[in-house]
Amino acid sequence: MNDKPEKFIDENGLRLDGRQINEIRPMTIKIGVLSRADGSCYLEWGNNKVLVAVYGPRELHPRRLQKSDSALIRYRYNMAAFSVEERVRPGPSRRSIEISKVSREAFEPVVMTQLYPGAVIDVFAEVLQADAGTRTAAINAASIALADAGIPMKGLVAACAVGKVDDKLVLDLNKPEDNYGQADLPIAMTQDGDITLVQMDGDLSQEEFKQAVEMCKEGCRQILEIQKEALKNKFADDTAVNIPDDIDEVTYVEAIVEFDIEEDEYPEEDDISGESEDEDEDTGSLDEEGEPEDIEEEFIDIVEEAADEEEITEGSDIREQ
Ligand code: ADP
Repeated sequence: MNDKPEKFIDENGLRLDGRQINEIRPMTIKIGVLSRADGSCYLEWGNNKVLVAVYGPRELHPRRLQKSDSALIRYRYNMAAFSVEERVRPGPSRRSIEISKVSREAFEPVVMTQLYPGAVIDVFAEVLQADAGTRTAAINAASIALADAGIPMKGLVAACAVGKVDDKLVLDLNKPEDNYGQADLPIAMTQDGDITLVQMDGDLSQEEFKQAVEMCKEGCRQILEIQKEALKNKFADDTAVNIPDDIDEVTYVEAIVEFDIEEDEYPEEDDISGESEDEDEDTGSLDEEGEPEDIEEEFIDIVEEAADEEEITEGSDIREQ
């Protein structure tokens, strides 16, 4: 493990990795990377690399675990054995169980679980390379993977941490800042700004805490934009319609056919009321729609007459009528 740096912030106000104090690490997102999962996301954030797979909603077994009024969210955060310098012992640890629990809770307010009673939504977050901020990286990826799985949500969830080094608050801690810093405050929030996860290590004064939350919110807002952009691009790719070169786009528009019938060519209100002059006379039989048959015939006649008058022939551009 690297030794504690002498200074975390230089005389120009820049951090060890060259960032400003309120700057997040570069983030890249790939959506739908696993063909067997219902939704998936691969996310790189600085030197963190995480992969999230979402399965469901699907029937929950054993059935005794089912909730009668909503779906259960299961969230498993796991660090691959090779994700850090020293090998991580495979299997659940106190840390991974805790992170899984708080991450699940970060999604419960937004996922519309009430739509799927008895079902389960499984979220598997695998940390492939860890460099501080893996729980927040996994939450950011899980949010996208849930959306990719088509699971109804009130909105996305974004997460990042604020910490304190050299007595200054810094956004999105890197590894040395996390290891040797004075505080670490990971936060997740919805796109409406509601906080769904707060944890804290270290010490912050009340004033610092308030400032840190504001900084974190700003970081989450930036991440939300990156998430939305990634989803928009995915959506654009999926729905791209290739118009063959030999077909003019206008042709599609021309396919819309409208009959313009002059107002005075519509049957008089009296005529379509179905009432005959003589109340005692048979008012005529009704067609399948419940409309009197003779009225329907009359309407067809009027339309045909209008067409004849304008010499509408098949293939002519009837929009010009
Ligand atoms: P987070 O990754 O969410 O910031 P922590 O603050 O607990 O979570 O961990 C900070 C960093 O410490 C991790 O990102 C990882 O790089 C490292 N780390 C965590 N757990 C272990 C472990 N069991 N072995 C080695 N390094 C670890």
